[in-house]
Amino acid sequence: MERDIYDEDHEAFRGVVKEFIKRSATDEHRKRWEADGEIDRATMLAAGEAGIIGLSVPEEFGGAGMLQDYRFRAVVLEETIKAGLGSLAGALGIQDDLAVPYLVHMGTQAQKEKWLPGMATGEILGALAMTEPGAGSDLRGIRTTAKKVDGGYLVNGAKTFISSGKTADIVVTFVKTGEGDRPDAFSLLILEDGMAGFDHGKTLQKMGFHGWDTAELSFSDVLVPEENLIGGKEGLGFVQLMMNLPLERLSIGVAAAAAGEAAFDWTRDYVLSREAFGERVADFQNTRFKLADMATTVDVMWTYVDRAMELYADQKLTAEEAAKVKFWTTDREAELLDVGVQLHGGYGYITEYPIARAYLDARVHRIYGGTNEIMRDIVSRKIVGKR
Ligand SMILES: Cc1cc2nc3c(=O)[nH]c(=O)nc-3n(C[C@H](O)[C@H](O)[C@H](O)COP(=O)(O)OP(=O)(O)OC[C@H]3O[C@@H](n4cnc5c(N)ncnc54)[C@H](O)[C@@H]3O)c2cc1C
Repeated sequence: MERDIYDEDHEAFRGVVKEFIKRSATDEHRKRWEADGEIDRATMLAAGEAGIIGLSVPEEFGGAGMLQDYRFRAVVLEETIKAGLGSLAGALGIQDDLAVPYLVHMGTQAQKEKWLPGMATGEILGALAMTEPGAGSDLRGIRTTAKKVDGGYLVNGAKTFISSGKTADIVVTFVKTGEGDRPDAFSLLILEDGMAGFDHGKTLQKMGFHGWDTAELSFSDVLVPEENLIGGKEGLGFVQLMMNLPLERLSIGVAAAAAGEAAFDWTRDYVLSREAFGERVADFQNTRFKLADMATTVDVMWTYVDRAMELYADQKLTAEEAAKVKFWTTDREAELLDVGVQLHGGYGYITEYPIARAYLDARVHRIYGGTNEIMRDIVSRKIVGKR
């Protein structure tokens, strides 16, 4: 089904992203990232040079100023995922959807001036650290503390599963600045690479996304200056996280729809060229029916995701709507990739094939950004009026 969410500016930008991929994100690059377990800095700088990172950084801080138009971000996600570059899509997403927004929307003027220009060029990479070994879904159960001392905060604790946690220069870190678990007991602090007592710890070995680092972080008496408190005021952290979660979940929805579409494209191409019993695999009725189901699911996914993008543009994408988009699209993504792998036969299990890599990458879409159970919890509480 034809989509009409993009105009000619977005299509021109799509050309820029495609050109960047042809030049700086080839299969060679991908293999290197996977061997190294991370995207190299040169690639992120090339992304900055091409203008496809830090999209929402305002022009006055050296960015493209695409704050009001999320569709450019969606184009980056679509093109990188459809090119089989899930790890690159993820690394760019962390910067643009999980790190930059906290500064653009909630940072003080000084914080914006200090970090945003570098974030638009790829010289400064960010990450977001909420999850801890003992607290993921239950964010208010975190134990990392930031104790007020002269001139700043003394941070102690540990985080885990932090995407881009090894490569990040700055980490937006969710900490406890107060007692108990009331929303105002939490704050967001920027921890900088190289601060004494801040250790990037172990890089975790994952099922998928092999070219994108996920790390443990630990903090031992890290002295963080007061100026690094996001928004310049204590006790706002929980609300700040809640404000940005719809964007994070929308992006996971876009990524899921793009991976679903890619699964369809890769599978259609494969079954058209593969033969068994003297005919194309595509000619078996089972295959044709599966392709019909896949094509229809992809259409419905995009129709839904495109509508969510429109709502986001109008600042009307609520927490519940974003949660619905996140769990529904990632569940469909999993089904599409599973069918795609099956129709590839044995080759579907071989990671040289993009369908196999995408299948492995996609598994975490139902876990991070809030698990799909937590998404259903958010949606169902609203339905029944449970606080
Ligand atoms: C590759 C990867 C990258 C990640 N990147 C980041 C990152 O950049 N930053 C970051 O902060 N975190 C990140 N995470 C962490 C991720 O967001 C958490 O793993 C996720 O929120 C789940 O938390 P948990 O692992 O503690 O699971 P738990 O909260 O322990 O959940 C375990 C199970 O219980 C279920 N469950 C929990 N509570 C409920 C409930 N109330 N009702 C029903 N079921 C429930 C869950 O759905 C899940 O199935 C990442 C994780 C991975 C694997």
